[in-house]
Amino acid sequence: MKQTNLSIHNRKIKTYFVNTLVVGSGAAGYAAAVRLWEGGNENIALLTENRLCGTSRNAGSDKQTYYKQGIGAMGTDSPLRMAKDLFAGGAMDGDTAYCEAVNSLPCFFRLAQMGVAFPTNRYGEFVGYRTDHDTAGRATSAGPLTSKMMTEAWEKEFEKYAIPMLDNLLAAEILKDENGAVCGVFAIRTDADPTEENRVLIGCANLILATGGHAAVYADTVYPDGHTGSLGLAVQAGAGMQNLTEWQYGLASVAPKWNVSGTYMQSLPALISIDENGNRTDILQKYIPDIGTGLSLLFRKGYEWPFDSAKAENGSSQIDLLVHKEKSLGNRIYLDYTVNPYGEKFDLSLLDTEAKSYLENANALLATPLQRLLQMNTPAYELYFNKGVDLAEQPLEIALCAQHCNGGVAVDAWWQSSVEGLFVCGEAAGTHGVRRPGGSALNAGQVGALRASQFINAKCEDKVTNEQTLLASAAHLFAESQQKTDKKNSLQTLASRVFMSEHAGAIRNADQCRQMQESLAEQLLQYEKTAPVQDAEFYRCRHALFTQCAQLNALYTLAAHGIVRGGAVWTDVDPTEDNTLLQSVVETQYKDGDFVSSLRAPRPLPDGGGFFEEVWRSFRENGNVE
Ligand SMILES: Cc1cc2nc3c(=O)[nH]c(=O)nc-3n(C[C@H](O)[C@H](O)[C@H](O)COP(=O)(O)OP(=O)(O)OC[C@H]3O[C@@H](n4cnc5c(N)ncnc54)[C@H](O)[C@@H]3O)c2cc1C
Repeated sequence: MKQTNLSIHNRKIKTYFVNTLVVGSGAAGYAAAVRLWEGGNENIALLTENRLCGTSRNAGSDKQTYYKQGIGAMGTDSPLRMAKDLFAGGAMDGDTAYCEAVNSLPCFFRLAQMGVAFPTNRYGEFVGYRTDHDTAGRATSAGPLTSKMMTEAWEKEFEKYAIPMLDNLLAAEILKDENGAVCGVFAIRTDADPTEENRVLIGCANLILATGGHAAVYADTVYPDGHTGSLGLAVQAGAGMQNLTEWQYGLASVAPKWNVSGTYMQSLPALISIDENGNRTDILQKYIPDIGTGLSLLFRKGYEWPFDSAKAENGSSQIDLLVHKEKSLGNRIYLDYTVNPYGEKFDLSLLDTEAKSYLENANALLATPLQRLLQMNTPAYELYFNKGVDLAEQPLEIALCAQHCNGGVAVDAWWQSSVEGLFVCGEAAGTHGVRRPGGSALNAGQVGALRASQFINAKCEDKVTNEQTLLASAAHLFAESQQKTDKKNSLQTLASRVFMSEHAGAIRNADQCRQMQESLAEQLLQYEKTAPVQDAEFYRCRHALFTQCAQLNALYTLAAHGIVRGGAVWTDVDPTEDNTLLQSVVETQYKDGDFVSSLRAPRPLPDGGGFFEEVWRSFRENGNVE
């Protein structure tokens, strides 16, 4: 990697030049870097704010799911069937769905070969199970920490090749040349003494953003501590975004952050709200007087984890709504495994048949939630115990939390964004639509990394950024009018995150979204006036503001068309029944200082296939990268 010092306004700025820079050290970023290298491109580097941060390495669940084409011997799955199922989730583009399906097995086998312990039976068969929105038993899992194992497997390859890494650097701004194509990144040290020169430039003709989901949009999230994400980088650069409206929310504990799905709910703990004076309210008793109904909904929440608008009126998502409602009153919400819901009136015989026979089969028709939990799933109890929370002694604080963004940067079938040279993979890429099968996030991240690296190696490997272009694009960052961070900035962002959780998450209010977007856009203007400020926190806040503004704009557009779908409900929107509208992709762009959103039909599923000799001929010419 070429390194030099550029002189800007009499300051020496450490500068690197590479053909391609990958940003992010999660499962997607590492995969992209290794794929580039193996494809013969050694003029690359991976930059990360902290090698050990990110969702892939630090999040998990009871059985973290990887979704791939079904290959169990009994199955009848095919890439086309998988593509159709992904596409049927709604508001998903057909070409990316097709790519995620046909590249699913090559990516999966690579992970298995690198040692990710996806289980096989005695014949070597990868047996699958059904995950949510899955018709074909496509799910597999290497255990609670599948994504961590994936990250570490790629990291081993990365280290084996000795690919250059720029650690402890936050990508703060994407730099573009006079034609609007990527020419570099402005980065800022996350570990530096603030009085030292902590700014770095990286000249690159291609940039692969693998920065994960933008956790900092919300206050209540189950993203791991230390992960903020930075989609706003791409928003600010003018890249088209899509489906920022489509998130997955569900109940999770706040400290430690963990989804309270499965047996955490099926053991029927009391759902408690505690106000500022310490008064306890049994939420089910308060809102669902029919004991059998309340208990059965609580039980079902265990295997219907994500909030779902279709289950909001009569189904298990009522539980999420109640948690959100009580929290909006200023209370804190807990699961208490030491007492039963409904107190003295608690009666397991009132459960519906399905729930009762499940507990019966598990020999868990026991007196207290703790006993039922221990009987059904002792490791679930131990998990919290090992993280410092003894469910036998103390209640567990929960909230309705954001877990995953289905949307993100809009990409084409090679995971290139609308900005030339800017590729995006992993959760930062907005390839999912309204409903996505559980585990498809990890598959999409692997496929995106493969596709972007294939395209770059075939088409853009020779491109470089020269010093003059980089200097011209970065000059504004080194102007004399630099100021230090105003501490209020982070506080304002915290307030906006709380707002997003209250009014722009699973439960949304169109009018509030519109007002908040105006207010945040104003804050952004203030940021722009004081910029550049040389501090990583400043840029994190700025990234969050960009994403929040774009998302609120997209939300407001959705509401204006009466589109109520997927993982959210609205408090002030008349729902449309127009299926074309319900399926549409919401696009958002930051252009000339304004956020603009519009709707479009999803790109259709391509025909794919081809006559072998024809495919082979063009493959020999250009690898079919076009
Ligand atoms: C609790 C939980 C459970 C989940 N369970 C599943 C599941 O079962 N199946 C499934 O498919 N998905 C699941 N997901 C989602 C899935 O884990 C993520 O979508 C995926 O791991 C994201 O990988 P990534 O590589 O895109 O991003 P990450 O792993 O988040 O990595 C992003 C990287 O970018 C770095 N970074 C970010 N911004 C910058 C910047 N500006 N400059 C430099 N570096 C930066 C970060 O530090 C990090 O290294 C779950 C998520 C959560 C939170």
